[in-house]
Amino acid sequence: QSGGVSLQRPRFLQDRLIMRIVFLGAPGSGKGTQAQRLVADFGVVQISTGDLLRAAVASGSDLGKRAKAAMDAGELVSDEIVLGMIRDRLQEPDTKAGFILDGFPRNLAQARALEGVLQEVGQPLDAVCLLDVDFDILMKRLTGRRTCSRTGKLLNIYFSPQSEIDACKERGGELIQRADDNEETIGNRLQVYRDQTEPLVGFYREAGLLKELAGDGSMDEVYGRLKAALGV
Ligand code: AMP
Repeated sequence: QSGGVSLQRPRFLQDRLIMRIVFLGAPGSGKGTQAQRLVADFGVVQISTGDLLRAAVASGSDLGKRAKAAMDAGELVSDEIVLGMIRDRLQEPDTKAGFILDGFPRNLAQARALEGVLQEVGQPLDAVCLLDVDFDILMKRLTGRRTCSRTGKLLNIYFSPQSEIDACKERGGELIQRADDNEETIGNRLQVYRDQTEPLVGFYREAGLLKELAGDGSMDEVYGRLKAALGV
């Protein structure tokens, strides 16, 4: 049983299959969930600018204070703040085994700056995966989204199996809803995605990096498509 697991990782690391990835997709398209699965199976790190920013807000740091208003309104935080965070994070040694950028870049200026940073660290991107999901599914995923306060696992009150929701509560966890997962803010975030982030689809298609996959269906189905797209 453990043989399969121990074989998988070294083979992957030696062969250097595709694993420096950007996840592109609207809020609620499943970027975070799918990234968590790749992290568990392949030992790459997930770098979520949204998570980093929420941690900064929670810590009450200056950076967090500067980011909070934009986040509450569903607007983008300034490029300067986000790029500083990404630059620092990509210098850390754990990124050498590969990384998934989840929620970054979110506009063309960030995408161009990312190219420069990755050139500096000698780690160009292997692929950009676009998770494509219909609007009404996005709304349900976003309004139903919760995080288990104990494990950090992403759950959904509409879609997760009852057993997973119960497991969180039985361990003394609470289902936490993100402050920006309310209907007004969600509308704005989806609009910001269309206006500012969607142009990246063309940008990465031209760069020959884009892999598009349908993001509807179960988590397992999407994960199967993702692995097929990445050839892992
Ligand atoms: P997310 O968790 O990726 O949905 O991000 C939550 C919020 O954090 C967004 O609505 C933005 O306000 C902010 N944010 C996250 N990533 C970025 C980014 N790359 N550029 C600007 N703002 C960001």
